[in-house]
Amino acid sequence: MEDCIFCKIIKKEIPSTIVYEDDSVIAFNDVNPAAPIHILVVPKKHIATLLDVTEEDKELIAHIYEVINQIARERGFAENGFRVITNCGRDSGQEVMHIHFHVLGGKKLGDKIVE
Ligand code: AMP
Ligand code: ZN
Repeated sequence: MEDCIFCKIIKKEIPSTIVYEDDSVIAFNDVNPAAPIHILVVPKKHIATLLDVTEEDKELIAHIYEVINQIARERGFAENGFRVITNCGRDSGQEVMHIHFHVLGGKKLGDKIVE
C-alpha cells in the first residue's frame, strides 16, 4: 500500500536491518528499540490492524508465530524468554497501520505489561 512505511520497508524502498525474510513475512530491528532485542515481525500482506485479520489470514498468523519461534532460537534469546506485543488502535498507541508483532527481550522486562 502506498504511504505505508512498512510496505516501503518490504519493497526495500526504505532501508532496515532485516533479521529474517521469506515469501510472506519480514522481520527487522525496530529503529527506536525499547529493549536490547526489539524486532518487528511483519506480514508482507498489508493488514492495517488486528481487527482486520480474517479467516483467510489464519495460516499467515500461525506462520508469524513459527517465525518468532525460529528467530528466538536462532538468535539465542529463546531460553531467557521474551515478550510479543501487537498494538491495535488508538488506546494502544499504534503508530504504524500495518499489523506487526513487537518481539522484546535481551533483559528482564518489567513485571507489568502496562503502566
Ligand atoms: P506501533 O506503535 O505498535 O505502531 O509500533 C511502531 C514501531 O515501528 C515503533 O516501535 C517504531 O519505533 C517502529 N518504526 C517506525 N519506523 C520504523 C522504521 N523505518 N524502521 C524500523 N522501525 C520503525
Ligand atoms: Zn503496509
